[in-house]
Amino acid sequence: MHTPIPDYLHEVLENTRDDGEVATYIPELARANPDLLASALCMSDGKIYAAGDIHERFTIQSISKPFVYALALQERGFETVLDKIGVEPSGESFNSASLDPRTQRPENPMVNIGAIATHALVRPEASRDERFEAVRAGLSAFAGRELDVDEAVYASEMGTAFRNMSLAYLVRSVDGFTQDPADIVEGYTRQCSILVDVRDLAVMAMTLANAGINPITQERVVDEHVAQQVLSVMTTCGMYDAAGDWMTQVGIPAKSGVAGGIIGALPGQVGAAVFSPRLDPVGNSVRGVQAFERFSGDMGMHLLKSPPLSRDVIRHANRRVSGQGEFHVIELQGPLRFSSAERVMRELEQIPNDRKTIALDLARVSSVDDVSRRMLMEGLRRLILEGHAVYLVDPRSSIPNRDLGDGTFPADAASLETLGLALTEGS
Ligand code: GLU
Repeated sequence: MHTPIPDYLHEVLENTRDDGEVATYIPELARANPDLLASALCMSDGKIYAAGDIHERFTIQSISKPFVYALALQERGFETVLDKIGVEPSGESFNSASLDPRTQRPENPMVNIGAIATHALVRPEASRDERFEAVRAGLSAFAGRELDVDEAVYASEMGTAFRNMSLAYLVRSVDGFTQDPADIVEGYTRQCSILVDVRDLAVMAMTLANAGINPITQERVVDEHVAQQVLSVMTTCGMYDAAGDWMTQVGIPAKSGVAGGIIGALPGQVGAAVFSPRLDPVGNSVRGVQAFERFSGDMGMHLLKSPPLSRDVIRHANRRVSGQGEFHVIELQGPLRFSSAERVMRELEQIPNDRKTIALDLARVSSVDDVSRRMLMEGLRRLILEGHAVYLVDPRSSIPNRDLGDGTFPADAASLETLGLALTEGS
């Protein structure tokens, strides 16, 4: 094998140190083997790297929260969901009995009280079992396989679910939902008892990082703006009350669960998961946090790491003459987004007024986002208005619709070669 990634994953796991305790407030979780350890990375094309106890299944617990929040947003819409549950970090422990004093809503969907209210938003008219089935099927779509429940953990947690029961009654008392609170806690607890392994979690995380499309099944599970909302809330509220430490040291939208799982979803790049049952005092997997610190540092995965600068977008800009006459040629490269399109707009200003024919070459452009497409088209429209003739060279169809907004179109050319304008090798 040429790729160093599997060895790297093993090395990271080996070098994590353990000193926490497994969760005991759910009796069945106290029986977990504390030495289990596994990790997986899922890439945007569905390729998975995994190391350690990768076949070991454990309950998803709080890692279910962002996914059920996604299902609720998708099914009920933003307005309804935001009306019931806020998006502010609470700074309090995961099972705190608090509502936002101003709005009387749970502060966010990542603490228990908010997650219980979120569960109630899915299929509000359905029975407890139908609602749970919608949640189970939705989480399965994120994972790309049918997920089941660990009945022993479910029964064990229900036996001691007094705290969550009281949270559900609290939300019910402010009309956070209208169903029977006991039904909602039972459904929510089943949701937490869904069994996964690290690969499942990595695929689920990548589905969020992949704008809502499962990288393996290619199913669109939720819309892009839903995935973005969920990642935002994971960024600010995902790691219990260690969210600030996590953001500064790791910088990956994440969610942890008391069974020892942690997921991280880096938009457009990777879905990662670690499983190790011993927890630190705030409830995050000790070795999981260490592994993510390594991932972030070693692989440059911090969300706020500066991306490559946009100034290299102009590959060449110069006068060229062919059998077809004199041209001003601008060759672009790399991704086009706001900052690189802005640079292109300034380049258009530099075109001498007597250079009547312009060729803009996108052959080496890797992607064009919506704002840069609109800026580019507006720039071309203005050039044409000023009396220039404009050729758009776009062999990869980076811009499928070339309408300049006023019913006019730039001229098409298959390549600079066909216009006789290609630079020779080395020039
Ligand atoms: N089922 C657990 C609870 O509600 C989930 C807690 C967690 O993973 O943080 O207490």
